Amino acid sequence: MDMAKVLIIGAGGVGAVVAHKVARVPQVFTEITLASRTKSKCDAIAKAVGSTRIQTAQVDADRVDQLIVLFKEVRPEIVINVALPYQDLTIMDACLETGIHYLDTASYEPLDVAKFEYKWQWAYHDRFMREGLTAILGCGFDPGVTGVFVAYAAKHHFDEIHYLDIVDCNAGDHGKPFATNFNPEINIREVTQRGKYWENGQWIETEPHEIHRPLTYPHIGPRESYLIYHEELESLVKNFPTLKRARFWMTFGQEYLTHLRVIQNIGMASIKPILYEGKEIVPLKFLKAVLPDPGELGKSYSGETSIGCRIRGIRDNKEKTYYIYNNCKHEEAYQEIGAQAVSYTTGVPAMIGAMMLVTGKWKRPGVYNTEEFDPDPFMDQLKQHGLPWHELHDVDLEV
Ligand code: NDP
Repeated sequence: MDMAKVLIIGAGGVGAVVAHKVARVPQVFTEITLASRTKSKCDAIAKAVGSTRIQTAQVDADRVDQLIVLFKEVRPEIVINVALPYQDLTIMDACLETGIHYLDTASYEPLDVAKFEYKWQWAYHDRFMREGLTAILGCGFDPGVTGVFVAYAAKHHFDEIHYLDIVDCNAGDHGKPFATNFNPEINIREVTQRGKYWENGQWIETEPHEIHRPLTYPHIGPRESYLIYHEELESLVKNFPTLKRARFWMTFGQEYLTHLRVIQNIGMASIKPILYEGKEIVPLKFLKAVLPDPGELGKSYSGETSIGCRIRGIRDNKEKTYYIYNNCKHEEAYQEIGAQAVSYTTGVPAMIGAMMLVTGKWKRPGVYNTEEFDPDPFMDQLKQHGLPWHELHDVDLEV
């Protein structure tokens, strides 16, 4: 078995799950360092994991020079980036400079435009290839497992896939009037943008939340689901050119949407800096400071998430439908790791992706999305590390 030193960057909700999970696979991850902007948060996570194997460090991941110093000191084989999407490029630069493999869970976006596009990171492909290094992009649940699910469906169940609907339901209740399940700034930027989906070779844009309908989720029932743009659509339509249509749906409760509308209407979702008492502040960043910390939601979170892919296509000249999904209970995630299910479902795939890379199963010089690798070994590991998946064949997909 290959063995590797791993460096995790980002000590938030997702970073805590990644740290717990890598510590449980000592045969692969022999040494672990957790670094973030605030070192005390890394120390708290290391203590909660209880393993003396986790070293901690302070780093400003916006600074390539600081990252390079840290990488040279730690000498990891791979960096798992679970800081924020703004740090993707600086961390990739430092990886190239020091010869270290890379993995993240969210595509780069510049601070001043909420866009969610892979083009900035795909532009690193040739450089990673030349250095013999692998970068795996978007290896959380969605993006991440959703890409693996599509690759698995294409490999085992279809000759051609034609229609894809990714369905993401959080039927959890955290008991707060309003909270986001991961970093509020990133979350609100994502859900307030215009909707967008792929149909017949082009992108079709909608008003935010314009298209919605109830969809039925396993063990949960019908939940109003809203068509939003989500970053994996961009790589999936490129990597599966037979797709005639690809869409992404997410459930939102009425209470959540009402709060969101108010937040937008009063200007608190804005990412444009304003001058306040002589200091520049970004309204959305200020809002983040007063909202509940997503990492703290776990304690009182009940209910479960259900994320999956509904696919229609052709097998042996006949039309076929297929639904593959995972359900994850907030309470179980909390009991196991002290995290809520959204952090859990993101952190587990990040650990597995890193395992795929360092054990050579997903090692290929260049920059790739998860659907470009062999899904089978990853699918096996999902079952072993807390994210079992289920398949339904020839069912009504509702979409
Ligand atoms: P949090 O805000 O809880 O954590 C982010 C962490 O990164 C914090 O500890 C923060 O430090 C640290 N950080 C931020 N900026 C810097 C910096 N410049 N240098 C060093 N550290 C920094 O976010 P989450 O854990 O909820 O999310 C982490 C990532 O996972 C995000 O990119 C998010 O988009 C992604 N995600 C992906 C999902 C998927 O399914 N693919 C789903 C959910 C999230 P500090 O504590 O000091 O602020």
